Formats: sequence, structure tokens, C-alpha cells
Amino acid sequence: MNTYDIIIIGGGASGMMCAITAAKNGKKVLLLEKLSTLGAKLKATGGGRCNLTNTLSKEDFMQTFGKNGRFISDALNAFDKDDLITFFQNIGLETHTLDGFRVFPTTHNSLSVLDTLFKEIKNLHVEVICNCEIEQILTNKERVLGVKTLEGEYLSKHVVIATGGFGYPTLGGSGDGYRFAKELGHTVSTLSPAMMPLHVKENWVAKCRADTIAKATIKVDMPKYKKLKATGDLIFTKNGIRGPVVLDFAREITPILQKHQEVPLLINLTKGLNEEQIRLHVKKEALANPQQSILNIIATLLPISICKEFCKECEIDENITYAKLNPQKRDTLIKLLTWTPLCVVGHDGFKNAMVTRGGVSLKEIEPKSMQSKLVKGLYFCGEVVDIDGPCGGFNLQWAFSSGYLAGCLKEM
Ligand SMILES: Cc1cc2nc3c(=O)[nH]c(=O)nc-3n(C[C@H](O)[C@H](O)[C@H](O)COP(=O)(O)OP(=O)(O)OC[C@H]3O[C@@H](n4cnc5c(N)ncnc54)[C@H](O)[C@@H]3O)c2cc1C
Repeated sequence: MNTYDIIIIGGGASGMMCAITAAKNGKKVLLLEKLSTLGAKLKATGGGRCNLTNTLSKEDFMQTFGKNGRFISDALNAFDKDDLITFFQNIGLETHTLDGFRVFPTTHNSLSVLDTLFKEIKNLHVEVICNCEIEQILTNKERVLGVKTLEGEYLSKHVVIATGGFGYPTLGGSGDGYRFAKELGHTVSTLSPAMMPLHVKENWVAKCRADTIAKATIKVDMPKYKKLKATGDLIFTKNGIRGPVVLDFAREITPILQKHQEVPLLINLTKGLNEEQIRLHVKKEALANPQQSILNIIATLLPISICKEFCKECEIDENITYAKLNPQKRDTLIKLLTWTPLCVVGHDGFKNAMVTRGGVSLKEIEPKSMQSKLVKGLYFCGEVVDIDGPCGGFNLQWAFSSGYLAGCLKEM
């Protein structure tokens, strides 16, 4: 009764894809999820819209993952973005690409993604048990034998760890998979939160929370890391910065923060205008209307809340006209408008981390099958593996591709 061809621990994106693939291949599948429902994190993705994948070529897609990118080649060969789009189309979910890059369901609603996956899981007679937390993976000297849960044991010669990372504990992030892997002799690389809001020293940001700054450029103001630069939408928070550009940047600077405790940044909030362009713009505005206050002049470049804070920072009376403004203070203001310094001193940690950096060592996983090189019959897929990508559908595509490959149950 309790014996299956394959048991999958974790009903997230990778686990569901793994279950569907194995069931399509005629396997008797058990999918175990510790939360009360499958796909809790998937539901929250892309701001509830679910950025499933993107349009990058395989090479470009892999490159984005940095030094670990080569590892994902086999998973992409088995199941790439086109396969994913076709897969969803075949089960009744249409997708589209409005910006030519990110792929979303046409419904722009992650619930429709979940619905189609649930229907497919049901059609294929995958046995699903929710509210079921796996405590241990059972093995003998040669291979896996099954799993132990609080309710009892389930047996299988194939067990897949699809437990995701540490991020967003409320959506299932527990890090259990790392523990299982370690208990079975696997190495887990250093784990750090990635893609989360950053905390900064400067208090003025708290007063500028209302607006989204489009095309903000962030760079690290440290000689060793000056190549680190990103552009995108930015939002101030009560103690720092968030938004798409910050999420990707956070991924890069977490290790620097661990090492140096503080990371000075320079941020251009004026859509990339340089100092000279800003100077000319301000002058032109002042000439067009000499009675205009300096606050109103710079408000043609930035939201008023930020302009007010910048005036305070430069000790400038916001009502003064350009002509009456002390030239030194004017220079300071223009420099501040060009590159605004902010100093990162912390972050939200795993609580609000969309992705976990690090994971089960790639050296110990067979990339053609996602099978453990150490324990026969043990497989990994998704975020638990030492693979993480930036925003833009990279992480879900990896979860689906690796889940597919694991579900093919290739014993190497
Ligand atoms: C808010 C948010 C937005 C995101 N947006 C995007 C996006 O738009 N595009 C994108 O590509 N990526 C996005 N990501 C990242 C993406 O969601 C993850 O990379 C992806 O879900 C990982 O899939 P997974 O199957 O490996 O893990 P998960 O989806 O986390 O699934 C793991 C499952 O395992 C279960 N589990 C854990 N331990 C146990 C246990 N012991 N027993 C039983 N079950 C267990 C968990 O409850 C969970 O349901 C986002 C992440 C977050 C948090």
C-alpha cells in the first residue's frame, strides 16, 4: 500500500513538475507537502502574476547563472523555455511576453498556473498528501528506501528532495532539504539570503516611500567592487531600499556585506543623467522661470518627497530661487542629484529572501539526471541545489527544468 515508484518531498514548482513528469511516464507517484496546500510560493511569485520564464537563448540563460551556469545545460536540453510554454499550453494555460523578455500567464494571475498544475496532477493520479512533514529519508548501505513522516513510513527506491530554500518561511522555506542532504553525506555550500530589501544608514529614505523611481542605477562605491552595477525600478522603505533593481543587487552584495559589515552605494535617481546634463537642465528650468523655487526646479527630475530631503541634506532653503542659491551649495545639490550616497548596513535576512544562495554541492549531483552521486535513488531539484539566478523567470525555469529531469528517473 505504502510503496511507490517515486516519492517527492516538497510540492513547489520543481516538485509538482517532477510528479507530473514521472506520472506521465507511468510511474506510481507520491507527492508530500508539509504545508496545507501545494505551490504556496509559486502563488506568490512575480507579485502574484508568476513570471514563469524568459525569452533568453539557452547560452545567455546559462551565462546569467555565473560560474554554476554550465550545470544547468542538461536540464535545459531536456526541458527549456519552449518546452515549458508548450507544456502549459497543452494543459490549458496560455502565456505571453509583453516586454519581449519576461513570460507570464496571459491571465497575469498565479492562481491560474496553480489551477492547471493541480488539474494535471489529479488527471495523472498523483497521490498528494499535504500537511505532511518528512522527518528523515530512509536508506540502507546501497540506496534510498523511502521516507519517514510523523504519520508513518512511505517506501520507494526513488526519493526526490524538492524542498526549496530557506527564504520566506511562511511559504514553506525551511531548509529541511539541506539537512536531509547533509545527513546522507552531501556537502551544502554556504547559504545566504538573496533577493531581499536592503537596510541603509540614512534616515531620510523613510520619508520618500510613496514613489517608484524608474531606471535608477545602483553601483557599489568600493574600488574592488566597482564593476557591480544595476539599473531598474527602485522604491524607498522605512529603513532602506527595495524593488526589482535592489533584489538583483542584493544577491551580489550579501557576501560583501558579510565581509565588510557596511557597503557604500552610489545611486543615480535621474534616469542616468550625468552631472553636466543635470546642471544644464537645472539652469534651463531657472532661465525659463526665474521666480521658480529650487525645490520646484529639481522636482522636474525627481519626486517632490526626495527633492525636499535633498534640500535638507544640502542645508538649502527649498523656497530659494536658483539665482540666489549659494554656488557651493548648488554644486553639492547637483552632485547629490547625480550620485546619491547610501550605505547598506543590513537586510531582511531569509524572512523576505526570494531565493537562497548556495545549496547542495553540484559536484555531488549528476547533471544529466539530477541523481545524487553518493546515494543511489536519491534526486534533487529546484532551489535546494546550489543554483540561483536573478529576477526575470530564471529561478522558476530552473525549478521546472530540474524537476522535469528528476522526474524522468534516469538511473546513471
Ligand atoms: C515572493 C517571491 C516571488 C518570486 N517570484 C519569482 C518569479 O516571478 N519568477 C521566478 O523565476 N522566481 C520567483 N521566485 C523564486 C521561485 O519562487 C523559487 O525559486 C521557486 O519557487 C523554487 O521552487 P522549488 O520547487 O525549488 O521550491 P519551493 O517552491 O519553495 O517549494 C518547496 C516546497 O517544499 C515544501 N517542503 C519543505 N520542507 C519540507 C518537508 N520537510 N516536508 C514536506 N515538504 C517540505 C515547502 O513547504 C514548499 O512547498 C520568487 C520567490 C518569492 C519568495
